[in-house]
Amino acid sequence: MAAQKFDLAVVGTGPGGYVAAIRASQLGLKVAVVEEDRPGGVCLNWGCIPTKALLRNAEVLDLVQRAQEFGISVGPVKADYAQAIARSRKVADRLSKGIEFLFKKNKITLFPGRGRLTAPTQVVVKTASGEETIEAKHVIVATGSEPKSLPGVTIDEKRIISSTGALKIDQAPASLLIIGAGAVGVEFADVYAAYGVKVTLLEALPRVVPVEDEEVSTHLNRLFTKRGIEIKTGAKVSAVTMDAKGVTVNAAVDGKAEQFTVDQVLMAVGRQAKTEGLGLEALGVAMEKGFVKVTPQMGTSLPGLYAIGDLAGPPLLAHKAMAEGVVAAETIAGRKARPVDYGNVPSCTYCRPQIASLGLTETQARERGHAISVGRFPFQASGKALALGETDGFVKVVADKTTGEILGAHILGAEATELIHEFAIGRTVEATLEEIIHTVHAHPTMSEASLEASLGALGQAIHI
Ligand code: NAD
Repeated sequence: MAAQKFDLAVVGTGPGGYVAAIRASQLGLKVAVVEEDRPGGVCLNWGCIPTKALLRNAEVLDLVQRAQEFGISVGPVKADYAQAIARSRKVADRLSKGIEFLFKKNKITLFPGRGRLTAPTQVVVKTASGEETIEAKHVIVATGSEPKSLPGVTIDEKRIISSTGALKIDQAPASLLIIGAGAVGVEFADVYAAYGVKVTLLEALPRVVPVEDEEVSTHLNRLFTKRGIEIKTGAKVSAVTMDAKGVTVNAAVDGKAEQFTVDQVLMAVGRQAKTEGLGLEALGVAMEKGFVKVTPQMGTSLPGLYAIGDLAGPPLLAHKAMAEGVVAAETIAGRKARPVDYGNVPSCTYCRPQIASLGLTETQARERGHAISVGRFPFQASGKALALGETDGFVKVVADKTTGEILGAHILGAEATELIHEFAIGRTVEATLEEIIHTVHAHPTMSEASLEASLGALGQAIHI
Protein backbone atom coordinates (compact mmCIF):
# COMPACT_ATOMS: atom_id res chain seq x y z
CA MET A 1 0.00 0.00 0.00
CA ALA A 2 1.18 3.53 -0.79
CA ALA A 3 2.61 5.56 2.08
CA GLN A 4 0.23 7.99 3.74
CA LYS A 5 1.51 11.55 3.86
CA PHE A 6 1.45 13.88 6.85
CA ASP A 7 3.19 17.02 8.04
CA LEU A 8 3.96 15.38 11.35
CA ALA A 9 3.91 11.84 12.73
CA VAL A 10 4.16 11.33 16.48
CA VAL A 11 5.16 7.90 17.75
CA GLY A 12 3.70 7.38 21.22
CA THR A 13 0.69 9.13 22.73
CA GLY A 14 1.76 9.69 26.32
CA PRO A 15 1.63 13.19 27.79
CA GLY A 16 4.50 14.29 25.52
CA GLY A 17 3.13 12.76 22.33
CA TYR A 18 -0.54 13.68 22.60
CA VAL A 19 0.20 17.26 23.63
CA ALA A 20 2.67 17.67 20.73
CA ALA A 21 0.07 16.27 18.31
CA ILE A 22 -2.69 18.58 19.51
CA ARG A 23 -0.47 21.68 19.53
CA ALA A 24 0.78 20.88 16.01
CA SER A 25 -2.77 20.42 14.79
CA GLN A 26 -3.78 23.75 16.36
CA LEU A 27 -0.98 25.33 14.34
CA GLY A 28 -2.40 23.93 11.10
CA LEU A 29 -0.30 20.80 10.57
CA LYS A 30 -1.73 17.51 9.29
CA VAL A 31 -0.88 15.11 12.11
CA ALA A 32 -0.75 11.32 12.56
CA VAL A 33 -0.15 9.55 15.86
CA VAL A 34 0.99 5.97 16.35
CA GLU A 35 0.11 4.05 19.51
CA GLU A 36 0.43 0.35 20.36
CA ASP A 37 -1.52 0.55 23.66
CA ARG A 38 -4.37 2.78 24.80
CA PRO A 39 -3.92 6.51 24.07
CA GLY A 40 -2.43 8.39 27.01
CA GLY A 41 0.75 6.39 27.51
CA VAL A 42 2.17 5.12 30.77
CA CYS A 43 1.22 8.26 32.71
CA LEU A 44 -2.44 7.98 32.02
CA ASN A 45 -2.83 4.19 31.83
CA TRP A 46 -0.08 2.71 34.01
CA GLY A 47 1.46 5.54 36.00
CA CYS A 48 0.52 8.98 37.30
CA ILE A 49 -3.24 8.74 36.99
CA PRO A 50 -4.14 5.26 38.31
CA THR A 51 -1.61 5.66 41.15
CA LYS A 52 -3.22 8.94 42.13
CA ALA A 53 -6.60 7.16 42.20
CA LEU A 54 -5.11 4.49 44.51
CA LEU A 55 -3.48 7.12 46.71
CA ARG A 56 -6.84 8.86 47.02
CA ASN A 57 -8.33 5.54 48.16
CA ALA A 58 -5.57 5.28 50.76
CA GLU A 59 -6.33 8.83 51.90
CA VAL A 60 -10.07 8.19 52.19
CA LEU A 61 -9.42 4.97 54.11
CA ASP A 62 -7.12 6.79 56.48
CA LEU A 63 -9.66 9.55 57.01
CA VAL A 64 -12.46 7.06 57.75
CA GLN A 65 -10.20 5.33 60.25
CA ARG A 66 -9.57 8.72 61.87
CA ALA A 67 -13.30 9.53 61.99
CA GLN A 68 -13.39 9.54 65.81
CA GLU A 69 -10.94 12.46 65.79
CA PHE A 70 -13.69 14.48 64.08
CA GLY A 71 -16.38 13.19 66.47
CA ILE A 72 -17.83 10.81 63.92
CA SER A 73 -18.53 7.20 64.85
CA VAL A 74 -18.31 4.55 62.18
CA GLY A 75 -18.65 0.79 62.47
CA PRO A 76 -15.81 -1.59 61.69
CA VAL A 77 -14.08 -0.33 58.55
CA LYS A 78 -13.69 -2.83 55.71
CA ALA A 79 -11.50 -1.92 52.78
CA ASP A 80 -11.67 -3.80 49.49
CA TYR A 81 -8.37 -3.55 47.60
CA ALA A 82 -9.85 -5.09 44.45
CA GLN A 83 -12.34 -2.24 44.32
CA ALA A 84 -9.56 0.29 44.74
CA ILE A 85 -7.80 -1.21 41.71
CA ALA A 86 -11.09 -1.34 39.78
CA ARG A 87 -11.68 2.34 40.52
CA SER A 88 -8.17 3.23 39.35
CA ARG A 89 -8.79 1.36 36.07
CA LYS A 90 -12.07 3.22 35.56
CA VAL A 91 -10.37 6.58 36.06
CA ALA A 92 -7.60 5.64 33.60
CA ASP A 93 -10.08 4.29 31.03
CA ARG A 94 -12.15 7.44 31.14
CA LEU A 95 -9.14 9.65 30.56
CA SER A 96 -7.84 7.47 27.75
CA LYS A 97 -11.20 7.84 25.99
CA GLY A 98 -10.84 11.57 26.56
CA ILE A 99 -7.57 11.56 24.60
CA GLU A 100 -9.25 9.67 21.72
CA PHE A 101 -11.93 12.36 21.73
CA LEU A 102 -9.28 15.10 21.63
CA PHE A 103 -7.61 13.39 18.64
CA LYS A 104 -10.94 13.39 16.77
CA LYS A 105 -11.70 16.97 17.76
CA ASN A 106 -8.30 18.06 16.44
CA LYS A 107 -8.55 15.92 13.27
CA ILE A 108 -5.53 13.85 14.25
CA THR A 109 -5.30 10.41 12.60
CA LEU A 110 -4.62 7.58 15.06
CA PHE A 111 -2.69 4.56 13.77
CA PRO A 112 -3.13 1.76 16.33
CA GLY A 113 -0.03 -0.45 16.26
CA ARG A 114 3.68 -0.53 16.91
CA GLY A 115 5.74 2.09 15.09
CA ARG A 116 9.24 1.60 13.73
CA LEU A 117 11.36 4.23 12.02
CA THR A 118 12.76 3.15 8.66
CA ALA A 119 14.07 6.66 7.94
CA PRO A 120 14.13 9.82 10.08
CA THR A 121 10.80 10.86 8.59
CA GLN A 122 9.25 7.50 7.76
CA VAL A 123 7.33 5.31 10.20
CA VAL A 124 6.15 1.77 9.50
CA VAL A 125 3.25 0.77 11.72
CA LYS A 126 2.67 -2.91 12.50
CA THR A 127 -1.10 -3.05 12.89
CA ALA A 128 -3.37 -6.00 13.74
CA SER A 129 -3.91 -6.67 10.04
CA GLY A 130 -0.51 -5.88 8.50
CA GLU A 131 1.68 -2.87 7.97
CA GLU A 132 1.08 0.74 7.08
CA THR A 133 3.68 3.31 6.11
CA ILE A 134 3.56 6.95 7.13
CA GLU A 135 5.70 9.52 5.40
CA ALA A 136 5.90 12.78 7.29
CA LYS A 137 7.86 15.99 6.89
CA HIS A 138 8.74 15.66 10.58
CA VAL A 139 8.61 12.87 13.13
CA ILE A 140 8.51 13.14 16.91
CA VAL A 141 9.45 10.04 18.88
CA ALA A 142 7.76 10.00 22.28
CA THR A 143 7.79 6.35 23.32
CA GLY A 144 8.57 7.05 26.96
CA SER A 145 10.24 4.71 29.39
CA GLU A 146 9.86 1.36 31.11
CA PRO A 147 10.73 0.04 34.58
CA LYS A 148 14.33 -1.03 35.18
CA SER A 149 15.32 -4.06 37.19
CA LEU A 150 18.50 -5.08 38.99
CA PRO A 151 21.11 -7.27 37.26
CA GLY A 152 20.02 -10.92 37.33
CA VAL A 153 16.52 -10.16 38.65
CA THR A 154 13.58 -10.88 36.33
CA ILE A 155 10.36 -9.01 36.93
CA ASP A 156 7.68 -11.73 36.52
CA GLU A 157 4.82 -9.33 37.44
CA LYS A 158 3.51 -11.93 39.88
CA ARG A 159 5.87 -12.09 42.83
CA ILE A 160 8.53 -9.66 41.62
CA ILE A 161 6.52 -6.80 40.23
CA SER A 162 7.04 -3.38 38.66
CA SER A 163 4.76 -0.38 39.12
CA THR A 164 2.86 -1.57 36.00
CA GLY A 165 2.22 -5.00 37.52
CA ALA A 166 1.22 -3.42 40.82
CA LEU A 167 -1.52 -1.51 39.03
CA LYS A 168 -2.94 -4.73 37.58
CA ILE A 169 -2.86 -7.08 40.58
CA ASP A 170 -6.06 -6.59 42.54
CA GLN A 171 -5.04 -8.57 45.62
CA ALA A 172 -2.75 -6.97 48.14
CA PRO A 173 -0.04 -9.29 49.53
CA ALA A 174 0.40 -9.81 53.29
CA SER A 175 3.97 -8.52 53.05
CA LEU A 176 5.78 -6.49 50.43
CA LEU A 177 9.36 -5.32 50.09
CA ILE A 178 9.98 -2.29 47.90
CA ILE A 179 13.44 -1.82 46.39
CA GLY A 180 14.07 1.90 45.90
CA ALA A 181 12.63 4.82 47.85
CA GLY A 182 12.23 7.27 44.96
CA ALA A 183 8.81 8.53 43.84
CA VAL A 184 7.49 5.09 42.82
CA GLY A 185 8.75 3.44 46.01
CA VAL A 186 7.24 5.90 48.47
CA GLU A 187 3.92 6.26 46.62
CA PHE A 188 3.33 2.50 46.59
CA ALA A 189 4.60 2.15 50.19
CA ASP A 190 1.87 4.59 51.15
CA VAL A 191 -0.93 2.76 49.31
CA TYR A 192 -0.02 -0.76 50.44
CA ALA A 193 0.59 0.29 54.05
CA ALA A 194 -2.83 1.97 54.14
CA TYR A 195 -4.37 -1.35 53.06
CA GLY A 196 -2.69 -3.19 55.93
CA VAL A 197 0.24 -4.71 54.02
CA LYS A 198 3.46 -5.12 56.01
CA VAL A 199 5.76 -2.88 53.96
CA THR A 200 9.57 -2.84 54.00
CA LEU A 201 11.29 -0.07 52.04
CA LEU A 202 14.95 -0.49 51.04
CA GLU A 203 16.96 2.42 49.69
CA ALA A 204 20.58 2.18 48.58
CA LEU A 205 21.37 5.82 49.33
CA PRO A 206 21.57 7.19 52.88
CA ARG A 207 18.03 8.63 52.83
CA VAL A 208 14.55 8.15 51.36
CA VAL A 209 13.55 10.37 48.41
CA PRO A 210 17.26 11.16 48.00
CA VAL A 211 16.76 13.82 45.33
CA GLU A 212 14.73 15.97 47.72
CA ASP A 213 16.00 18.40 50.34
CA GLU A 214 17.48 16.55 53.36
CA GLU A 215 14.85 17.91 55.75
CA VAL A 216 12.10 16.48 53.57
CA SER A 217 13.75 13.04 53.61
CA THR A 218 14.24 13.08 57.38
CA HIS A 219 10.68 14.16 58.08
CA LEU A 220 9.10 11.69 55.65
CA ASN A 221 11.18 8.86 57.10
CA ARG A 222 9.88 9.71 60.56
CA LEU A 223 6.24 9.87 59.45
CA PHE A 224 6.41 6.64 57.43
CA THR A 225 8.12 4.83 60.32
CA LYS A 226 5.35 6.03 62.65
CA ARG A 227 2.84 4.47 60.27
CA GLY A 228 4.57 1.10 60.58
CA ILE A 229 6.59 1.11 57.35
CA GLU A 230 9.96 -0.49 57.97
CA ILE A 231 12.65 1.61 56.30
CA LYS A 232 16.24 0.59 55.68
CA THR A 233 18.50 3.19 54.08
CA GLY A 234 22.06 2.52 52.96
CA ALA A 235 20.59 -0.82 51.84
CA LYS A 236 22.08 -2.22 48.64
CA VAL A 237 20.21 -5.23 47.31
CA SER A 238 22.52 -7.96 46.02
CA ALA A 239 20.12 -10.82 45.22
CA VAL A 240 16.43 -11.61 44.91
CA THR A 241 15.37 -15.27 44.83
CA MET A 242 12.03 -17.05 44.88
CA ASP A 243 10.90 -20.35 46.39
CA ALA A 244 7.71 -21.82 47.83
CA LYS A 245 8.07 -19.76 51.04
CA GLY A 246 8.16 -16.45 49.24
CA VAL A 247 10.65 -14.02 47.80
CA THR A 248 13.97 -13.60 49.58
CA VAL A 249 15.95 -10.40 49.28
CA ASN A 250 19.58 -10.21 50.30
CA ALA A 251 20.99 -6.79 50.96
CA ALA A 252 23.97 -5.10 52.53
CA VAL A 253 22.51 -2.63 55.00
CA ASP A 254 25.21 -0.14 56.01
CA GLY A 255 27.68 -2.82 55.01
CA LYS A 256 26.05 -5.61 57.08
CA ALA A 257 24.36 -8.56 55.34
CA GLU A 258 20.60 -8.79 55.96
CA GLN A 259 17.93 -11.07 54.55
CA PHE A 260 14.22 -10.40 54.13
CA THR A 261 11.56 -12.94 53.13
CA VAL A 262 8.28 -11.50 51.88
CA ASP A 263 5.28 -12.42 49.70
CA GLN A 264 6.03 -9.89 47.00
CA VAL A 265 8.80 -7.55 45.88
CA LEU A 266 8.18 -4.27 44.06
CA MET A 267 11.07 -3.12 41.91
CA ALA A 268 11.24 0.69 42.06
CA VAL A 269 14.85 1.35 41.08
CA GLY A 270 14.15 3.72 38.20
CA ARG A 271 13.10 3.68 34.57
CA GLN A 272 14.93 3.45 31.24
CA ALA A 273 14.18 4.85 27.78
CA LYS A 274 11.86 2.65 25.70
CA THR A 275 13.76 2.32 22.44
CA GLU A 276 13.56 -1.39 21.65
CA GLY A 277 12.41 -2.05 18.09
CA LEU A 278 12.00 1.66 17.38
CA GLY A 279 14.79 1.68 14.79
CA LEU A 280 16.77 4.52 16.35
CA GLU A 281 19.98 2.53 16.56
CA ALA A 282 19.92 1.56 12.89
CA LEU A 283 19.40 5.21 11.94
CA GLY A 284 22.37 6.20 14.11
CA VAL A 285 20.53 8.68 16.33
CA ALA A 286 22.92 10.19 18.87
CA MET A 287 22.25 8.98 22.41
CA GLU A 288 23.48 10.23 25.79
CA LYS A 289 23.42 8.06 28.97
CA GLY A 290 20.77 5.78 27.44
CA PHE A 291 18.45 8.58 26.33
CA VAL A 292 18.05 10.34 22.96
CA LYS A 293 20.25 13.42 22.80
CA VAL A 294 18.20 16.53 22.03
CA THR A 295 18.65 20.23 21.39
CA PRO A 296 16.73 22.86 23.40
CA GLN A 297 14.19 22.79 20.54
CA MET A 298 13.88 18.97 20.97
CA GLY A 299 15.65 18.14 17.69
CA THR A 300 17.77 14.98 17.51
CA SER A 301 21.03 14.49 15.62
CA LEU A 302 18.97 13.68 12.48
CA PRO A 303 17.20 16.44 10.51
CA GLY A 304 13.41 16.16 10.72
CA LEU A 305 13.48 13.85 13.75
CA TYR A 306 12.57 15.12 17.22
CA ALA A 307 12.43 13.38 20.60
CA ILE A 308 10.51 14.40 23.72
CA GLY A 309 9.53 13.17 27.17
CA ASP A 310 11.18 10.32 29.08
CA LEU A 311 12.90 9.15 25.89
CA ALA A 312 14.77 12.47 25.80
CA GLY A 313 16.10 12.08 29.34
CA PRO A 314 15.55 13.31 32.88
CA PRO A 315 13.60 14.50 34.66
CA LEU A 316 11.20 11.66 33.75
CA LEU A 317 8.05 13.61 34.47
CA ALA A 318 4.80 13.88 32.54
CA HIS A 319 4.61 17.67 32.82
CA LYS A 320 8.16 18.03 31.51
CA ALA A 321 7.14 15.80 28.55
CA MET A 322 4.08 17.98 27.86
CA ALA A 323 6.19 21.14 27.92
CA GLU A 324 8.69 19.55 25.53
CA GLY A 325 5.82 18.44 23.27
CA VAL A 326 4.74 22.06 22.88
CA VAL A 327 8.31 23.19 22.11
CA ALA A 328 8.73 20.47 19.45
CA ALA A 329 5.34 21.14 17.83
CA GLU A 330 5.85 24.89 17.71
CA THR A 331 9.36 24.53 16.33
CA ILE A 332 8.12 22.17 13.61
CA ALA A 333 5.32 24.61 12.77
CA GLY A 334 7.95 27.31 12.20
CA ARG A 335 7.47 29.22 15.43
CA LYS A 336 10.26 30.47 17.65
CA ALA A 337 9.45 28.24 20.62
CA ARG A 338 10.66 29.16 24.09
CA PRO A 339 12.73 26.21 25.39
CA VAL A 340 11.72 24.40 28.57
CA ASP A 341 13.22 25.94 31.70
CA TYR A 342 14.61 22.76 33.25
CA GLY A 343 15.68 24.64 36.36
CA ASN A 344 12.06 25.36 37.15
CA VAL A 345 10.25 22.05 36.67
CA PRO A 346 8.35 21.11 39.82
CA SER A 347 8.97 17.64 41.16
CA CYS A 348 5.87 16.18 42.80
CA THR A 349 5.40 12.96 44.77
CA TYR A 350 1.92 12.09 45.90
CA CYS A 351 2.55 10.01 49.00
CA ARG A 352 1.00 11.31 52.22
CA PRO A 353 2.10 13.87 53.09
CA GLN A 354 2.81 14.98 49.54
CA ILE A 355 6.21 16.27 48.47
CA ALA A 356 6.72 19.10 46.00
CA SER A 357 9.89 20.93 45.21
CA LEU A 358 11.73 22.97 42.65
CA GLY A 359 15.09 24.59 42.19
CA LEU A 360 18.02 24.00 44.52
CA THR A 361 18.02 22.18 47.84
CA GLU A 362 19.69 23.98 50.74
CA THR A 363 22.82 21.82 50.32
CA GLN A 364 22.96 22.38 46.55
CA ALA A 365 22.59 26.14 47.02
CA ARG A 366 25.49 26.19 49.50
CA GLU A 367 27.61 23.92 47.28
CA ARG A 368 27.11 26.36 44.41
CA GLY A 369 28.52 29.13 46.53
CA HIS A 370 25.33 31.10 47.20
CA ALA A 371 25.05 33.07 50.40
CA ILE A 372 21.55 31.99 51.36
CA SER A 373 18.73 32.70 53.71
CA VAL A 374 16.36 29.86 54.57
CA GLY A 375 12.80 30.21 55.79
CA ARG A 376 10.63 27.41 57.18
CA PHE A 377 7.07 27.22 58.36
CA PRO A 378 5.55 24.08 59.86
CA PHE A 379 1.94 23.25 59.05
CA GLN A 380 1.45 22.64 62.77
CA ALA A 381 1.37 26.41 63.15
CA SER A 382 -1.10 26.92 60.28
CA GLY A 383 -4.73 27.59 61.17
CA LYS A 384 -6.02 25.99 57.98
CA ALA A 385 -3.88 22.88 58.44
CA LEU A 386 -5.12 22.52 62.03
CA ALA A 387 -8.74 22.91 60.92
CA LEU A 388 -8.21 20.26 58.25
CA GLY A 389 -6.40 17.93 60.62
CA GLU A 390 -3.43 17.89 58.22
CA THR A 391 -0.58 19.30 60.28
CA ASP A 392 2.31 17.12 59.10
CA GLY A 393 5.10 18.81 57.17
CA PHE A 394 6.36 22.28 56.34
CA VAL A 395 7.23 24.78 53.65
CA LYS A 396 10.91 25.59 53.25
CA VAL A 397 12.22 28.29 50.98
CA VAL A 398 15.86 28.83 50.03
CA ALA A 399 16.71 32.30 48.76
CA ASP A 400 19.76 34.28 47.80
CA LYS A 401 20.63 36.39 50.83
CA THR A 402 21.64 39.46 48.87
CA THR A 403 19.11 39.57 46.06
CA GLY A 404 16.16 37.69 47.57
CA GLU A 405 15.99 35.47 44.48
CA ILE A 406 14.04 32.27 45.15
CA LEU A 407 16.63 29.53 44.61
CA GLY A 408 14.51 26.61 45.76
CA ALA A 409 11.25 25.68 47.44
CA HIS A 410 10.54 22.42 49.28
CA ILE A 411 7.12 21.51 50.56
CA LEU A 412 6.07 18.45 52.52
CA GLY A 413 2.41 18.44 53.42
CA ALA A 414 -1.19 18.13 52.33
CA GLU A 415 -1.68 19.56 48.83
CA ALA A 416 2.04 20.33 48.50
CA THR A 417 1.74 19.50 44.81
CA GLU A 418 -0.75 22.36 44.38
CA LEU A 419 1.10 24.80 46.64
CA ILE A 420 4.41 24.59 44.75
CA HIS A 421 3.14 26.63 41.79
CA GLU A 422 3.30 29.88 43.71
CA PHE A 423 7.07 29.48 43.76
CA ALA A 424 7.17 28.18 40.17
CA ILE A 425 5.45 31.30 38.87
CA GLY A 426 7.61 33.36 41.21
CA ARG A 427 10.73 31.96 39.62
CA THR A 428 9.37 32.33 36.08
CA VAL A 429 8.76 36.04 36.58
CA GLU A 430 11.98 36.34 38.61
CA ALA A 431 10.11 37.43 41.71
CA THR A 432 12.05 37.88 44.92
CA LEU A 433 10.90 37.06 48.44
CA GLU A 434 9.85 40.70 48.74
CA GLU A 435 7.24 40.19 46.04
CA ILE A 436 5.97 37.01 47.68
CA ILE A 437 5.57 38.75 51.05
CA HIS A 438 3.83 41.75 49.48
CA THR A 439 1.31 39.48 47.81
CA VAL A 440 -1.68 39.29 50.14
CA HIS A 441 -2.35 35.62 50.84
CA ALA A 442 -5.92 34.65 51.73
CA HIS A 443 -6.58 33.55 55.28
CA PRO A 444 -6.98 30.83 56.27
CA THR A 445 -5.18 28.86 53.56
CA MET A 446 -2.38 26.34 53.31
CA SER A 447 -0.63 28.87 51.02
CA GLU A 448 -0.06 31.11 54.02
CA ALA A 449 2.69 28.67 54.99
CA SER A 450 4.56 29.75 51.83
CA LEU A 451 4.09 33.39 52.80
CA GLU A 452 5.31 32.69 56.34
CA ALA A 453 8.33 30.69 55.15
CA SER A 454 9.24 33.62 52.88
CA LEU A 455 8.77 36.07 55.77
CA GLY A 456 10.91 33.75 57.87
CA ALA A 457 13.75 33.88 55.35
CA LEU A 458 13.67 37.68 55.71
CA GLY A 459 13.54 37.49 59.52
CA GLN A 460 9.96 38.78 59.61
CA ALA A 461 7.84 35.70 60.42
CA ILE A 462 4.65 36.62 62.24
CA HIS A 463 3.02 33.34 63.23
CA ILE A 464 5.99 31.48 64.64
P1 NAD B 1 13.97 6.92 41.02
O1 NAD B 1 15.20 6.97 40.22
O2 NAD B 1 13.28 8.17 41.39
O3 NAD B 1 14.26 6.13 42.40
C1 NAD B 1 14.86 4.88 42.42
C2 NAD B 1 15.52 4.69 43.77
O4 NAD B 1 16.02 3.36 43.83
C3 NAD B 1 16.72 5.61 43.97
O5 NAD B 1 16.54 6.35 45.15
C4 NAD B 1 17.89 4.65 44.03
O6 NAD B 1 18.90 5.09 44.91
C5 NAD B 1 17.24 3.35 44.51
N1 NAD B 1 17.99 2.14 44.16
C6 NAD B 1 18.59 1.85 42.99
N2 NAD B 1 19.19 0.64 43.05
C7 NAD B 1 18.95 0.14 44.29
C8 NAD B 1 19.30 -1.07 44.96
N3 NAD B 1 20.03 -2.03 44.37
N4 NAD B 1 18.90 -1.26 46.24
C9 NAD B 1 18.16 -0.31 46.85
N5 NAD B 1 17.80 0.85 46.26
C10 NAD B 1 18.18 1.09 44.99
O7 NAD B 1 12.99 5.93 40.24
P2 NAD B 1 11.47 5.49 40.47
O8 NAD B 1 10.98 5.87 41.81
O9 NAD B 1 11.41 4.06 40.05
O10 NAD B 1 10.72 6.35 39.40
C11 NAD B 1 11.08 6.28 38.03
C12 NAD B 1 10.92 7.61 37.36
O11 NAD B 1 9.56 7.93 37.28
C13 NAD B 1 11.61 8.71 38.12
O12 NAD B 1 12.30 9.53 37.24
C14 NAD B 1 10.50 9.45 38.79
O13 NAD B 1 10.74 10.83 38.91
C15 NAD B 1 9.33 9.19 37.87
N6 NAD B 1 8.11 9.13 38.67
C16 NAD B 1 7.55 10.29 39.07
C17 NAD B 1 6.44 10.25 39.86
C18 NAD B 1 5.84 11.53 40.30
O14 NAD B 1 6.21 12.56 39.77
N7 NAD B 1 4.91 11.53 41.24
C19 NAD B 1 5.90 9.06 40.29
C20 NAD B 1 6.51 7.90 39.88
C21 NAD B 1 7.62 7.95 39.08
